[in-house]
Amino acid sequence: MTKFKLITVCLLFICMQAFAQQIFSDGKYPLVDFRPPLNITPPALAGSFGELRSNHFHSGMDYRTNQRIGYPVYAIADGYISRLRVQNSGFGLALYINHKNGFTSVYGHLSRFNTMIARQVKSIQYQKKSYEIDDFQNELSIPVRKGDVIAYSGNTGSSGGPHLHFEIRDTKTEATINPQLFGLNITDNIPPVIYSLYAYKLNKRPFNEFTPKQTLAITGSAGNYKAGNVNLTGEVGFGIVTTDRHNGASGLNGVYSIELLLDENHVFTSSLEKFVFDNSKAINSHIDYPTFLSTKRSIQKSFVDPGNPLSIYSNLVNRGRIEFNDGKLHKLQYIVTDGSGNKSTLSFNVQADAKPAIYQENAASETARFPYDIENQFDNDKVKVVLPKGTLYNDLNFIYKTSAKPVGNAYSAIHHIHNNLTPLHVGYELWINAEDLPENLRSKAVIVSSSRVSQGGYFENGYVKAKPRNFGSFFISIDTLPPVILPQNIQEGKSMAGISKISFKIRDNLSGIQNFNGFIDGKWVLMEFDTKTASLWHTFDEQTGPGKHNFELIVKDMKDNSKTYSITFYK
Ligand SMILES: [Zn+2]
Repeated sequence: MTKFKLITVCLLFICMQAFAQQIFSDGKYPLVDFRPPLNITPPALAGSFGELRSNHFHSGMDYRTNQRIGYPVYAIADGYISRLRVQNSGFGLALYINHKNGFTSVYGHLSRFNTMIARQVKSIQYQKKSYEIDDFQNELSIPVRKGDVIAYSGNTGSSGGPHLHFEIRDTKTEATINPQLFGLNITDNIPPVIYSLYAYKLNKRPFNEFTPKQTLAITGSAGNYKAGNVNLTGEVGFGIVTTDRHNGASGLNGVYSIELLLDENHVFTSSLEKFVFDNSKAINSHIDYPTFLSTKRSIQKSFVDPGNPLSIYSNLVNRGRIEFNDGKLHKLQYIVTDGSGNKSTLSFNVQADAKPAIYQENAASETARFPYDIENQFDNDKVKVVLPKGTLYNDLNFIYKTSAKPVGNAYSAIHHIHNNLTPLHVGYELWINAEDLPENLRSKAVIVSSSRVSQGGYFENGYVKAKPRNFGSFFISIDTLPPVILPQNIQEGKSMAGISKISFKIRDNLSGIQNFNGFIDGKWVLMEFDTKTASLWHTFDEQTGPGKHNFELIVKDMKDNSKTYSITFYK
């Protein structure tokens, strides 16, 4: 065989292998352009793309790193560093690479960048006098080649354990796409597990916490599940609890797609090929949110709320709502597929009632009726509520109540703005009348929830105005206390020779940390912060030579209450 032919056959083999495991991409995505971001073999996931998380779909793949930090992270293809990002929480230290094929790769929770990138990041931080940066770079600044070590894996930001968070995005739209569609294979021949099946008696009403739900017992095991025959009447929607497992990994991951067929025809499909970040919060419409709040179990609904903006749905008939009134026996089947193409099915029969269902309106007990597809407002002399269009997933019978001012640090009655069981896509304006708030405290006012969590806010036109992201119970409070600074390894006059860092814990009682600034001998120095441990530190560099130095730290909260800590030390 000639060398050329051998190469051709090898390439063909690689392509075929990739195709064998990639059944979804339909040629939309390149299958051989990208190498894996780590050299750990076999690659294993701690989290899959689109996995159900609290208030969002997981936007990438979480690669396991053997509970350790410090594994080299490789550029998955040629390109250039397009964005340098450092966050107190979120992705922590993160890099973005733009590639020639129109996709951007993202690497998060890194422990450190390579030397060249680290130098660039530090210089931007000093230029902006800020630990947090989000800096866009042009293609000339930091070009990279496929396989270059760009950083080391870590646990920074809101990561709950060492791993690499990895994403592939469409460079133009910034939609995040399932990396498994790019030939980045994960060993997995285990079909998804289906735990439970529910029938929701929708009866032409919006889905909410009052929708009756019936549990349908299921039997079987991964691959093949069944439920007994069930009698149903009227308009019904279904939902299931399902997860996926990978070979050699103990954790539970999310599934790729859920299809529901009625008498062998699709009435619902959801598939997590891609989504845009603005729509990620609609996970609370995708799942049965009231049940999630009370049990932490995510039932994935197979009927779509009218205000749900996600584009993960297809093959919808009547948005997945099914009428059972023809007296016939109907065959239903779920097909659940994971990111490697393994499938499980769940089959059951529904005996439909013969008489047409009679749908009754709920007795009107609401304060106001809010249609999902317009801006909605409610006000009285004590409170104003403005829901922008796109806040609600369903029509809402809005309920407002009030109760007495709580004891201690409260400057209004409690306003019960509907209840927290209704998910919201975006924040809404909440204005609470501030007539009980003394004028000298106006600049210190915030709105807090009944559990005294700050919703932010400021005084405006006789009200305190905030933008909560959930319904619930709220009142006006004030923050007059500065943040607390707790030194961890320093005291007055201490010799810091041979010590690499100066460390603190900082926290605020109510409104939250707005900023922190450290100075050595009057010059601004980089303080690094980790929200999840409340740790703040400065790593000494060549700027701090031997001898006596003055260190000052100023920490401010969101209401401009400020705390200064200053000390002399020796190096
Ligand atoms: Zn992640």
